[in-house]
Order: sequence, then C-alpha cells, then structure tokens
Amino acid sequence: MSAISPLPSFKDLHISLQAGLPDLRTTVEQCLANIDQQKHLNAFVRIYAEEALAHAATIQQKAQNTHAGRLAGLIVGIKDMLCYKDHPLQASSKILEGFISQINATTVERLIHEDALIIGHQNCDEFGMGSSTENSIFGPVRNAINTSKVAGGSSGGSAVAVQAHMCHVALGTDTGGSVRQPAAFCGLIGLRPTYGRNSRYGMVAHASSFDTIGILANSIYDCAAVLEVIAGPDAYDSTTSQHPVDKYTTQLDFTKKTRVAYLKEAIDYTGLQPEIRSNTLETIETLKATGHHVEGVTLPLWEYILPTYYVLTAAEASSNLARFDGVRYGYRDPDAKHVTEAYIKTRTKGFGKEVQRRILLGNFVLTSSHYDDDFIQAQKVRRLITDSLKAMLSSYDFIILPTIPHTAFDLDCNTHDPMSMYWADIYTTLAAIAGVPAISIPIGYDDEGLPIGLQIIGNSFQEASLLGFSKHILEAMKA
Ligand code: GLN
Repeated sequence: MSAISPLPSFKDLHISLQAGLPDLRTTVEQCLANIDQQKHLNAFVRIYAEEALAHAATIQQKAQNTHAGRLAGLIVGIKDMLCYKDHPLQASSKILEGFISQINATTVERLIHEDALIIGHQNCDEFGMGSSTENSIFGPVRNAINTSKVAGGSSGGSAVAVQAHMCHVALGTDTGGSVRQPAAFCGLIGLRPTYGRNSRYGMVAHASSFDTIGILANSIYDCAAVLEVIAGPDAYDSTTSQHPVDKYTTQLDFTKKTRVAYLKEAIDYTGLQPEIRSNTLETIETLKATGHHVEGVTLPLWEYILPTYYVLTAAEASSNLARFDGVRYGYRDPDAKHVTEAYIKTRTKGFGKEVQRRILLGNFVLTSSHYDDDFIQAQKVRRLITDSLKAMLSSYDFIILPTIPHTAFDLDCNTHDPMSMYWADIYTTLAAIAGVPAISIPIGYDDEGLPIGLQIIGNSFQEASLLGFSKHILEAMKA
C-alpha cells in the first residue's frame, strides 16, 4: 500500500469545493489510479471512470455556482447488490450475467441527488452470502493490509476499496454482519443502521426481514454524513420507518456518562482470539476510567443466536431467490430443451455452491414436515432473543462485544468448511435478529498487525448517540 496516495478527506474537499478549489477531477483521478494500481485486491467488479469524471465536472460547476448538494466532493463505491440505473448488476453471481438495472436503489438515488459521485460497483459474496468474499463469480477479494488474508464479507470489496483509498465511503449490505465484519477485518468503521432506517428498494434481497444497507467509512463523520442523506421513509419500501432522521453530523460530540453492558458469553467464548479479548477488556477499562458505568451481563439465549439466524435467513433466501429462474433475469442455460430443464440447468449452473446450500437448507426448513419444528420454532426464538436484548437496552445505553471472534484469516482456509465460516457470524447476528443498530470500530491490532474491531449495539433509531459514542471511544482509546 506504500505507493498509494491517501485521498483528501470528504470534509476538507467539500469545504474547498465550495470555495472554488480544488479540482474534484484530480481526486477522482487519484481514486482511479489507486484502483488501477491495486487491481490484485479485486475490490471492484465494474469501474465507471468516464462517467465519474464527467460527473466531477458537473459537480465542480454546481459548486462554483454555490448550489452543490450536501455530499459534493464525496466519492462512493457501491456493493454489487445495489441497483444503479442503466448499469449492470450481478450480486457477484453468474445467474445475473447480462442484467442491467432499470432503477436506482433509493439509497443510491439519494446519494446522487446530494451530488455524491458513484465510482463503481464492488465485489462481494454471491447474493451477500458469506463471511470472507470468496464466494464470488469474480474471484476473492484480498485484504490490503496483508494480501494473503481475506477482506471479510460479504461486503469485502466495499471494505477494501475504502481501506485502500479507492473511494471515501462505500454502501454495503448487512443481513447478519456483512458491513461490520469486513469493517473489522480492514480496520474501518462499519455501520448497520436500525432495520427500516433506510430503504431496501433496489437492493438485491437476501433475507428481507434482516436486510439493511450499511456504510463503510474511514471516519465517523463520513458515516454520519452519508446516513443523514440515505435514511428516512420511502414509499417504495413499506418497512421504512417514519421516525425522524437526525442531523447526525452535528451531534457527534458526546459528553454523556453512560451505562454500558458487555456480554459475558462473548468474552468467555472459547473461540475468541486472546488479543481480541484483551483489547476489548482494555476498552472496557478505558470506558470505566472516563466515567462510564460498565458491567458484564449474560444473555441466556446466547447459544441459539446463530442457529436462529441461519434457519430464518436460509428460509427467506430460498423464497427470495426463487425468482432467478432463467426466464426473468440475466443468465439462461442455452442447452435446455424445455422449460423445466431450463429452470434446473440455469439454477444449477447459475448459482454457486454456498447459494445452493442456503436454498436447499431454506427449502428443507420450510417443508411441511419441518415447518413447525424448525421454521416456526426459530421465529419464536427470534422473538425471545429480541425481547431479552431490548430489555437489556432499556437498562443500558449500549452493549459492547467484539465484532468477530478472530482477525482476518488466510484466503481459502475456511472455504471447504461452511460451519467454520458460519461461526464467524456469532457476534454480528444478534443485532440483526433484533433489528437494532450496531457499529464496528477499529480498536487495535493483533500480533500479526491485523485490525481488531469492537462492536457497539444501540437502541432502535438512536444512531446519533451510537455514532457519537463510537467517536468518543475512538478518541478515548487514542488518548
Ligand atoms: N455472513 C453472514 C451470512 O453469510 C452475513 C451475510 C450478510 O450480512 N449479508 O449470512
């Protein structure tokens, strides 16, 4: 990464753009050069260079005429799960080969409306299923800190693009951890907002009652600036909330003394890497020393979190992915002689192994003989987990735990063992089950120099305090 030039910050760029300086084109060119020099990381699947340069000129012009949008100067990459009108979209899958979006995702539309500049689509696990960005038709993404390591997943390309100065921020999707987990592996901030805080319209569906669009950034400010623009109700997604959107960027100074709980099960988990445990405990001590009340609590249903997540998301995914049949979208097997054969061959060749595994698992738990014992049971356990987490959040302002039990692992070391890949999600699926917001922030490094993430869970629609508290922890850890 040494030859790579860091980008000027969005905040600085925005201010100087309005003062008529500097040339936005230069920063776009710098992003494009960084992308080009680091092709081996495989972060982008499509780069929209010409358009980005043209948009830079338009935004520059608008800024000179003093009416540029709130995100003028921000260069954004989007996960290959988000529709960008008139551009291809594949969810890193063969089955969507040749598909062109006819719409903008609402989040993308809102970014463009405020003059953010979209530079390209980023690599991810196929349909957002995975924890390492190795399940992609475009090949695996490499971590810029150590290229023999994974970037995390499923928004791995988005994380590496921000990490390696190819864009300021990225929009990823977080169904069960796919923004927070790669953020932790790459030393970034990764925010999963409250379910319903922003619209899922134009996001490729994975598991609809868990899916959210999250933000990967280098700074809390950038994260706040993007959330402020993309959050809020949307007529195209009836699950979006009417809850007012805060002016997050102006509420980042956090002075309150809080009540914080840490999950004892997470700290005692035998699979937790010792350096992550000690870093988390060190953060807890720092918080106590700065006047916060911090104590350990237990979550009795801890061991059911991961199975509940996988039963329910597989069921929802099997239903969502039924639409990819070779008739309506993208790839169709050319050798099929009749329609049933076309469905079978298209889906067999079009979906990768992990996606097929989820479809089979989802169909299995939805069959009449397993529906009550697996699917309905998991729904009930989801309610119990949600209730106990929300009860905890009524006594504490925040809950902290590691983002992931280990730092970035070697490429290819978990690809043949789906269970070990699923275990990587043990800490991130909790907030996803309950639909509450959660963030991962970088709090240190392990002995190999790989980043460690801390996860903070907050109350529904309290993203303003979650961002403020995160900034406060980052500053306290530096002091
Ligand atoms: N790793 C989890 C899974 O594979 C999370 C995925 C996600 O959040 N998109 O389901």
